[in-house]
Amino acid sequence: MAAQDAERLVPLEEVQHLALSRARALPPVEIPLDDALGCVLAHDAVATEDVPPFANTAMDGYAVRAGDTANAPVELRVVDVLGAGSSPNVGVGPGEAVQIMTGAPIPPGADAIAIVERAEAVLTGGSAKPGPGSLVRILDSVVPGAHFRAAGSDLAAGSVAVAAGTVLEPAHIGVLASIGAGLVKVHPRPRVGVMSTGDELVELAADGSARPLSPGQIRDSNRHALLATLRRDGCVPVDLGLAIDTEEAVTAGLERALATCDAVITTGGVSKGEFDYVKTVLAKMGAATGEVRELSVAIRPAKPLVLGWLGNRDGAEPRLVPVFGLPGNPVSSLVSYEAIALPVLRVLAGHAPAAPPTVPALADPGLRRRADGKTHLVRVELSWRADGRLAARAAGGQMSHQLSGMAVANGLAVVPDGEGIAEGEMLEVIPFGPIGPFGARGT
Ligand code: AMP
Ligand code: MG
Repeated sequence: MAAQDAERLVPLEEVQHLALSRARALPPVEIPLDDALGCVLAHDAVATEDVPPFANTAMDGYAVRAGDTANAPVELRVVDVLGAGSSPNVGVGPGEAVQIMTGAPIPPGADAIAIVERAEAVLTGGSAKPGPGSLVRILDSVVPGAHFRAAGSDLAAGSVAVAAGTVLEPAHIGVLASIGAGLVKVHPRPRVGVMSTGDELVELAADGSARPLSPGQIRDSNRHALLATLRRDGCVPVDLGLAIDTEEAVTAGLERALATCDAVITTGGVSKGEFDYVKTVLAKMGAATGEVRELSVAIRPAKPLVLGWLGNRDGAEPRLVPVFGLPGNPVSSLVSYEAIALPVLRVLAGHAPAAPPTVPALADPGLRRRADGKTHLVRVELSWRADGRLAARAAGGQMSHQLSGMAVANGLAVVPDGEGIAEGEMLEVIPFGPIGPFGARGT
């Protein structure tokens, strides 16, 4: 461990770079298509057949020879009725038509579709019901190719339907289904363990009752917030429970984590307190099989951080598992997660390495601060103003224990060291929740 790092304030960009520098995508796995939403495709998915596989009609109507309709209205003899899923029994000869439903294959001889809305059954022998042998009056002339969907007009056989690296959205899942890809090769969702540490912490009761708190105790909120955040971000959350403030308990929890997880997040125990064992234990483990850095990140909140890469204990190919020792204050742990841990988890999941994306917003009102050598990550509500511009205003209490403030925020405003941002100036915001009109989040 580079102990001197703990004294130096390290700029956030440097910490993000350090965290990303060792991150690698998890090896691809094949999973059922319906489980792949949000995953990153690990190979080009190539269409092995045309989509659609055959020329078919885009409309209900009559398959005709366009030339027969030149002098419309014109009466044609209906020689067949074709629904979707059936194949043509007869072709369309001169003066003939095949009644046809959307999706049915175009019968041989036809080169256009006359839509049913512009066709009339001709009464013959008391029957107005169209069908083989009846006559149909086509009211408008049609051009060759009208309402045809050519074979391969969506995807041609041999073309790339979905490219490697694509984050699969619902329409991609549909496209992959359309080429018959029931299994897809993707980077797996990272399994991320979350462990809370602290003698003061009390578990939630399984029966939903709020356990009485003894003097000095508080409820563990970090683990639940982080497990939910991981689910939001497409990871598989692994609940590693609570560890008390002893070397043994923290070590046992981390050993378990390394045997089951692709990444590990702990909260608490990384500051300067007498019982902050997470950093001590991680330093020891790092000296054995990896690398651990104790850092003071030049941000507020969330200054203390232990960043580790530890050898896996799951019996698989040796690899380094990222471990994030996040600070215990509830807001700090979530801010550290958004700014430092999430970018790494995204790389494990197959995304390109990148710092958290930001959006430009107008300070409304200003976000004033004092110079202290740190970037402030202010919890803000991002909202659309009536003039169509995105605005950011401080949301709720800004102290690092005030989780309720985090809950009304949907972004972290990046306020550089100095005097802050005046009202009406632009600033960058890391968004982490849906953006609505101002006040939609209850500020
Ligand atoms: P620590 O980083 O362990 O010094 O904790 C800093 C502050 O965060 C203390 O006030 C702790 O009680 C609080 N804290 C630590 N872990 C949690 C947790 N899991 N849930 C809620 N608060 C916590
Ligand atoms: Mg603690």
